[in-house]
Amino acid sequence: MIETDILVVGAGPSGAIAAKHAALGGADVILIDKKSEIGSPKRCAEGVSKEGLKFLGIEPQAIWAVNEIEGIRLVAPDGTDVWLNDEIKLPEAGYILERKVFDKYMAMDAGRAGAEIKVKTLVKSLKKEKDSYIVSCESIGKEFDIKAKILIGADGPESHIGRWAGLKTGTRLKDMESGVQFEMCNVKMENSSVLEFYFGSVAPGGYAWIFPKGKDIANVGLAVIQSETNKPAYDYLVDFVKICPATKDAKIVELNVGGDPVGGMIKDLSDDNILIVGDAAGQVNPLTGGGIISGMTCGMFAGEVAAKSIKNGDYSKKQLVEYNKRCEDHLHDKMKKYLKVRDYLSSLSDKELNSIANAFQDVEFEEISTTELIKKLIKISPKALLKLGKLF
Ligand SMILES: Cc1cc2nc3c(=O)[nH]c(=O)nc-3n(C[C@H](O)[C@H](O)[C@H](O)COP(=O)(O)OP(=O)(O)OC[C@H]3O[C@@H](n4cnc5c(N)ncnc54)[C@H](O)[C@@H]3O)c2cc1C
Repeated sequence: MIETDILVVGAGPSGAIAAKHAALGGADVILIDKKSEIGSPKRCAEGVSKEGLKFLGIEPQAIWAVNEIEGIRLVAPDGTDVWLNDEIKLPEAGYILERKVFDKYMAMDAGRAGAEIKVKTLVKSLKKEKDSYIVSCESIGKEFDIKAKILIGADGPESHIGRWAGLKTGTRLKDMESGVQFEMCNVKMENSSVLEFYFGSVAPGGYAWIFPKGKDIANVGLAVIQSETNKPAYDYLVDFVKICPATKDAKIVELNVGGDPVGGMIKDLSDDNILIVGDAAGQVNPLTGGGIISGMTCGMFAGEVAAKSIKNGDYSKKQLVEYNKRCEDHLHDKMKKYLKVRDYLSSLSDKELNSIANAFQDVEFEEISTTELIKKLIKISPKALLKLGKLF
C-alpha cells in the first residue's frame, strides 16, 4: 500500500493548485487523474479574468493565454446589442485559455512544488479508517490502494468522492446546466477581442456565447437548464450556429459537452480527513457558469489548510473547517448576489430582454457592477425592476 499525507483526486485546475499549495506547505502529496492527458478533452469556453489569475499569483504565459479580451457584447433575442469596452472597468475582462495546455501547466506547477503525479489512475472507491482514508485505484490494468491522512476531492461536476464520504455534494437538476460547444474556425466576429453573450429563448435558463480564441477561431457554445426545456442543448446549438451571422459559415473542429453546477457552493465542504474543492463543491459563478478562478482560489485555500493540518498532526474537521471559513468569506456574498441575478435574468421574456437591451444601448457606463446595472435598470424599465424586487 502507498502511503501519503495528502491525496488529491482530480488534476483539473482546482485539484492541481490544491496539490501545489499542499506540497509548498511541506506535505507529501499525490495528485491523480483518470485521464491519460491532463486537460484533455476540455469542457470549457476557456474564459478567465486577469484579476483572478493575479490573485492566484499566476503570471499569464503565451502558450496558454491565447487571446486577450478587451470587451463584452451583450445580444438580445432580436439582435439588439450592447457593447461594453475597455474604457469602462470590466471585472471579467481577461484571457481566453488553451485549457489543454493550461491544465497541464498547472499540474506541472504542482509537480515542480514536489507533488507526485499519477495519470490514467481511476479512483474506484474509498474506505474511512480511524484517522485516514484508504482509496482504491486502478491504473493500466493494476489495482492498488493509497492510504492518505487527508483526501482532497477535486473530481469535477460528476464528483463521487464527496458523496462516497457522506457529504451532501449532489446538484439538483434545476441547478445543473447542460453545456455544449463547438470550437470553430471561419467565424466572422466584428471584434475578435470581445466576448459575445446571447440571451433569451436561444438557451433557456442559460445563454449562448462566442469566445474568440483567434482572428477567426472561437468557442461557440451554450448552456441550458434541461428541466426548463424538452429540447436537447445540442439541438439549440445547431440552431444557434445556423442563424447567427458570425457562425453560419463557420466550420467545426471540436465538440465539447459537460455539466456545469450553478446552484451555489455546497453547505459542508469538509469533514474529518476530507475536503472538497472546485466544481465538485459547486464553487462556480452561478451567473456566468465560470468555475476556473473560483475553483482554483478555493483549491489554493484547501492545499494551504491541508498542509497546515499535516504540520499540526490534526486532520479532524475541527482543524479542516478553516477551509470552509476561507471559502465562505471569499465566495459566499458574491455567490448569493449572482444566484439572484441569474434567477432574475431567466425570469425575463424575450420581449423584456429586447426592451432592456434597447434602452441600455444609449446608456453611458462608467463601471460594470451589479449595483451599477441595477441603478440603470431603475431608470429604464420599472416593470423589469419589479420582478427584480421580488428576488431581493
Ligand atoms: C461548456 C462549459 C463551458 C465552460 N466555460 C467556462 C469558462 O469560460 N470559464 C470558466 O471559468 N469556467 C467555465 N466552465 C466551468 C469550468 O470548466 C469548471 O468550473 C472547471 O473545469 C472546474 O475545475 P475543477 O478542477 O473543479 O474540475 P475539472 O476541471 O472537471 O477536473 C476534474 C478532474 O477530475 C478527474 N476525475 C473525476 N473523477 C475521477 C476519478 N474517479 N478518479 C480520478 N480522476 C477523476 C477528471 O478526469 C478531471 O480531470 C465551463 C463549463 C462547461 C461545461
